[in-house]
Amino acid sequence: MHAGQAQTIDKDDDVATSIATATACSGPNCPKCEQGMLWSDFSGPPYDPTYGWGCVHVETCKNWKGNCGAYRWHCSQCPEDLCRKCSVSVPAPAGAGLSGAGAA
Ligand SMILES: [Zn+2]
Ligand SMILES: [Zn+2]
Repeated sequence: MHAGQAQTIDKDDDVATSIATATACSGPNCPKCEQGMLWSDFSGPPYDPTYGWGCVHVETCKNWKGNCGAYRWHCSQCPEDLCRKCSVSVPAPAGAGLSGAGAA
C-alpha cells in the first residue's frame, strides 16, 4: 500500500545536492495548479506542432514559441506555459479581482 514513500534521486554528487535544489526552486509556480513549473521545450500533444506553446499572459506579453523559442516554463499537468518575461514578473491578480467575485 505504501509505495514510493521516499523518492530520493541521486543524480549528482552529494555536495551538489543543495545547489541542485536551489536551481529547481528558481522556476515559477503554475498559475492554475500552483505546481512548480519546469524549463522545457516540450511540444508534443496536445500542443500544435506548428504553433507550439503560448504564454498564459500571451495577450499582454505577446510571447509564444514563435518569438521566444521552444524553451519556456512548462507545467506538465495542466498543461500551462509561462514565458521567461512573465516568470520574473508574474502579474498579481490582487486588485483586479477574480471573475465572479463579489460573493463574500
Ligand atoms: Zn499546472
Ligand atoms: Zn508571458
